[in-house]
Amino acid sequence: MEKIQMVDLKSQYQKIKTEVDAGIQEVIDSTTFIKGGKVVDFQRNLENYLQVKHVIPVGNGTDALQIALMAMGLKPGDEVITPTFTFIATAEVVALLGLTPVVVDVDFDTFNISVDSIRKAITPKTKAIVPVHLFGQNANMEAILEIAKEHKLFVIEDACQSIGSVYTFSDGREFQSGTMGDVGCTSFFPSKNLGCFGDGGALFTNDDELAAKMRAVANHGMQVRYYHDFVGVNSRLDSIQAAVLDVKLRYLDDYCAARKAAADYYNKAFSVSDKLITPEHSPFSSHVYHQYTLKLNGVNRGELIKYLNEKGVPAMIYYPVPLHLQKAYQDPRYKAGDFPVAEKLCDCVMSLPMHTELTEEQLEHITKSVLEFVK
Ligand SMILES: *Cc1c(COP(=O)(O)O)cnc(C)c1O
Repeated sequence: MEKIQMVDLKSQYQKIKTEVDAGIQEVIDSTTFIKGGKVVDFQRNLENYLQVKHVIPVGNGTDALQIALMAMGLKPGDEVITPTFTFIATAEVVALLGLTPVVVDVDFDTFNISVDSIRKAITPKTKAIVPVHLFGQNANMEAILEIAKEHKLFVIEDACQSIGSVYTFSDGREFQSGTMGDVGCTSFFPSKNLGCFGDGGALFTNDDELAAKMRAVANHGMQVRYYHDFVGVNSRLDSIQAAVLDVKLRYLDDYCAARKAAADYYNKAFSVSDKLITPEHSPFSSHVYHQYTLKLNGVNRGELIKYLNEKGVPAMIYYPVPLHLQKAYQDPRYKAGDFPVAEKLCDCVMSLPMHTELTEEQLEHITKSVLEFVK
């Protein structure tokens, strides 16, 4: 049996090596490393896949979030609502821009931002909501968009973990993750569901004006060359990364299906134990399983992970500490106990290997090892 890894990028690459290598070689031969034809090709193909008017490729997912906020013209002190159970980047860019992150709790079932908590957190200073589609399924966008409309707030979707996931509104309309709010942000970090061979990211929007603004912000605040209308940043996807992504985009649906199949295997195997709470699948969203995350019920997590590691099974904790308890984000407004769901999740979640190359033999070994420990 191949060594089990949290993410197996090597086996995935082997299957598409010919196409990927040819794409990279093409870029090298052309020597258009920045803003080359490959970036535009990939941008168009992703726009088509997502059915969104504008894709703006940038340097990474964190930059995408920052550029989205910069383009909205928010002022220091403006409040931005984000979940406390997420990867740090979501709140980091808010703080970095001098805006005030207002953290809210999440739902125990789906790990996603709690709609009731958003409602309670709104003040006259609230300007935007940043829902995170955590672990690969969309937050409750219909409710979030309703709240945003009522209070005239921007919605920036953090779709760094959810590309390819589809959201269905109650009237039956379907949207790709990241294309429902004012802006969607994604990351092409190698281990993401659509990952390149380095850093990369993108913004999505259907708003022409916002698209132009974000494109300019990402390019030193410049619309006409060497005329700078506002303070911007330098953030771009390079052509080699675009060449890799353009190949992998063609397989994205297959990759999503492979992840789903692995999750189905896990769910079935773990259904026999009441000590393992398998991930809930919301009725309004498909799930692309960026992570497969169990909630442990009365199991010593540290001991279980140690046992699994001895059996050659890696396991990770995403995430061990909620935002409001991170040292860098200490805030007199928040203390331990304020967001009980997120705090409980941090204590009981455990993520198992999840990628496109898991074999039945590996899945059997992983599930057997977990069940052996919990009995
Ligand atoms: C990965 C990730 C980011 C940041 O993306 P980078 O490309 O690493 O900057 C932001 N938010 C979430 C939820 C992520 O998972």
